[in-house]
Amino acid sequence: MDRDAYLKEELCRLESEGNLRHLTPAGHEGSHVIAEGRKMLNLSSNDYLGLAADVSLRREFMERLDPGDFVMSSSSSRSLSGEFPVYGQVEDKLSEMFGKEAALVFNSGYHMNLGILPAVAGKDTLVVADKLVHASMIDGIRLSAAGAIRFRHNDMTQLGNILEKEHGRHRRIIIAAESVYSMDGDRADLRMLCEFKKRYDNVFLYVDEAHAFGVFGENGLGLAEEQGCIRDIDYLCGTFGKALASMGGFVVCSRTVREYLINRMRPFIFSTALPPVNWRWTEFLLGKLSGMKDRREHLAMLSARLRSGLEDLGFGMVSDTQIVPLTAGESKVAVRLASELQAAGFFVLPVRPPTVPEGSSRLRFSLTAGMTAADIAALTDAVRKITAL
Ligand code: PMP
Repeated sequence: MDRDAYLKEELCRLESEGNLRHLTPAGHEGSHVIAEGRKMLNLSSNDYLGLAADVSLRREFMERLDPGDFVMSSSSSRSLSGEFPVYGQVEDKLSEMFGKEAALVFNSGYHMNLGILPAVAGKDTLVVADKLVHASMIDGIRLSAAGAIRFRHNDMTQLGNILEKEHGRHRRIIIAAESVYSMDGDRADLRMLCEFKKRYDNVFLYVDEAHAFGVFGENGLGLAEEQGCIRDIDYLCGTFGKALASMGGFVVCSRTVREYLINRMRPFIFSTALPPVNWRWTEFLLGKLSGMKDRREHLAMLSARLRSGLEDLGFGMVSDTQIVPLTAGESKVAVRLASELQAAGFFVLPVRPPTVPEGSSRLRFSLTAGMTAADIAALTDAVRKITAL
């Protein structure tokens, strides 16, 4: 008897729908990947500022690194013996950069979203979340005892109506949103979200800046910096694994929220902390973030060119960021387009359910500051040829 038969059946079903995922080994060379014997422009990375691909940064870091800080494991959770001094230093730096009272760093953005909401949202709380928030936030909502309502993506009228109707029925409401949405590449109106939260005493605001931290704002702090509303966001979250080229998630918040999470957030309490050397790398790059304006501007220029190039080819465009989706519809179509673009030298992957809703499979071009205008022109041309067939 094949004990895995029921799993194989499901895998066959996924394959027949074009939804089976594979892991593709890839070497990295600047803004290119080498996969399946081909060198391709990497359009599937979140290294938005091109920092992960920048060998000179790694060299500079290694030269400055104190051998005492080259520790590859914390060997404990932070609540036990794992609280290395660098952790507090990075959190102080973060809270200072944002001008907030406190910050807390987590092992990943997934930990962050999985852990914060269940810790702070009990059964007296209602979470009102944008329909397109990331899977990690949805999992956090599911793990919490709170009730949940989703509002149509970026639909501020519907959100306003929900808050008006619900604010008297719950002890607390937490609005959960992202600032830049990872599948559509569009932005939230953070000012409006702050207006809503200020309208009611019992409404709080949780914003995940995973795809905006490093990329937007004068100092690269994110969309909340650009829209001037850092102060009004209660849980201002971000990740280090994307534009910052490191690893981890963080929240900047009040001192009380920080202390509460240290005591109540399960992924924080029950997991070994990131290696101290990784925190040093994060600290090193945080120190450079505000000076990365050139990279941010270059990325914005490349993104605008790709968006307008695709619009000229007749593709509708919801994105106004460095994440540029091209909707294919059926998963099989997305898979075919991705493989044709790969053959033409562009490493792009199909994004399929359950990451996106059924029938909205797409290619997602993730741009980085390491690319050139010529790369974007060549990509646009390849899309034109492939979709004209
Ligand atoms: N939040 C958002 C919006 C994300 O897109 C992701 C990952 N793609 C995460 C959180 C998870 O972050 P991490 O990769 O650091 O776990």
